[in-house]
Amino acid sequence: MQTQLLAALTDVLGPKGVIGPGPDMLPYLGEERGLFTGDALAVARPANVGEVAAVVRLCAQSGLPVFPQGGNTGLVGGGVPDGGVVLSTERLTRIREVDPLNMTMTAEAGAVLRTVQQAAEATDCLFPLSLGAEGSCRIGGNIATNAGGMGVLRYGNTRELVLGLEVVLPDGSVWNGLKGLRKDNTGYDLKQLFIGSEGTLGVITAAVLKLFPKPLARATAMAGCPDMDSLMGLFARARAQTGDTLSAFEMLSRFAIDLATRHLPEVRDPLAAPHPFYALIELTSSRPGDSLDELLESLLGEAFEVDQVGDAVIATSGPQAAALWALRESVPEAQKHAGGSIKHDVSVPVSRVAELVTRGCDLVEAALPGVRPCPFGHVGDGNIHFNLTQPEGMDRAAFLARWEEMNRIVHDLVVDLGGSISAEHGIGRLKREELAHYAPPAVLGMMRQVKRALDPHNIMNPGKILDIEPS
Ligand code: FAD
Ligand code: ZN
Repeated sequence: MQTQLLAALTDVLGPKGVIGPGPDMLPYLGEERGLFTGDALAVARPANVGEVAAVVRLCAQSGLPVFPQGGNTGLVGGGVPDGGVVLSTERLTRIREVDPLNMTMTAEAGAVLRTVQQAAEATDCLFPLSLGAEGSCRIGGNIATNAGGMGVLRYGNTRELVLGLEVVLPDGSVWNGLKGLRKDNTGYDLKQLFIGSEGTLGVITAAVLKLFPKPLARATAMAGCPDMDSLMGLFARARAQTGDTLSAFEMLSRFAIDLATRHLPEVRDPLAAPHPFYALIELTSSRPGDSLDELLESLLGEAFEVDQVGDAVIATSGPQAAALWALRESVPEAQKHAGGSIKHDVSVPVSRVAELVTRGCDLVEAALPGVRPCPFGHVGDGNIHFNLTQPEGMDRAAFLARWEEMNRIVHDLVVDLGGSISAEHGIGRLKREELAHYAPPAVLGMMRQVKRALDPHNIMNPGKILDIEPS
């Protein structure tokens, strides 16, 4: 069976397009966090949409599951195979077109996000999706997970950045929906079904992406705040006083800064004295001649007068701004040095963020004395990475065994505040049971109907998002 499959795939893709069992296959079987390992009969690496369609057709005819993979940087085990064929988009990397007047780019699914950003810059435009994994994640993976990241406050999630899609459907047929239209009300907006579907409805092979004017001025600051209410008050002030130049508003707890400065030698504490919470604020403008430093200075000055801010630093150079961003992005890495982490990627309305952080910390500390909450993230979008670091001296495995209990405490609170148990990273395999627990039966029922309508034999990334029996 495996020999036949490898021969058939090699017939279609040539020897460069197929990886069989052995050490070369290993990187496709695991995932970023090391929580899941899978198995596969083969890895297929098609180089164009026709080859993707041929692979999917072959699998459909043989009843084999297909597991789409981009950069494999996903954080919920969404790309991990369970038998069948891994379909990697890593050779599907062309930027097919940039249309400067329409302000769009057509990119193939395997184009690395940074390459997409650079192609936009080359035409004096901005593609605003930006995240820590941008050097290795691929645009098809970003679309399949509806990725968020640092630019959501101003530009929206990936969903808002996609105008058209090309998709290979589970029967191997190709849907060419590569329209570059900002207005199109011709029935159901089918591309939105595939965006965020985590590979369970089809293989995205290309997309028309929205471009924006490139920022010409930028101002970046880090402010220390006495508590979460003050930090969110500073956010409201920034919204009100900076016009539409506010492009990022991120939060770090003092514990997150402690971890980063203790474990990562390249990271410096930006302020002289410690503060309970920190806001990383960025303003950008595309208007020639705009100077944003004064705007940021007067914002922080007024916040200082009313004790919303205890101290702040405004970056005076590109490298200084980059150092502030590096501190923000170093938190997940720093956490790895402090033992086990139980992670939550949650969102609530922006008006409830302070309550989430304050009540969340109290609840987990009461349930597990000594646990070290490490909340940080995109508070301007209402999205907190409410991560928990193990108590000092506790056995790592014993801490991780409390994962479900901690999930229940944090997710119950999130739902109570009108929030979501997965804001950015999706459901994949990791949060499938959490989705089943929290989603209303009517919602799960509609999701199952959509899945069955498009993928009746359940061959597209089975076992992810929903548990489905083949009909
Ligand atoms: P993969 O991991 O390969 O796949 C992810 C899912 O999409 C899987 O279910 C897979 O089956 C499916 N898929 C992939 N390609 C296709 C395709 N062409 N067609 C159909 N399905 C497909 N995420 C955020 O949202 N915001 C962040 O700020 C963020 N920061 C991160 C920082 C770091 C350091 C890391 C490691 C990850 C971060 N992530 C973040 C998570 C991850 O980078 C994103 O989910 C990213 O969008 C995944 O892209 P990928 O190409 O690596 O996809
Ligand atoms: Zn994030």
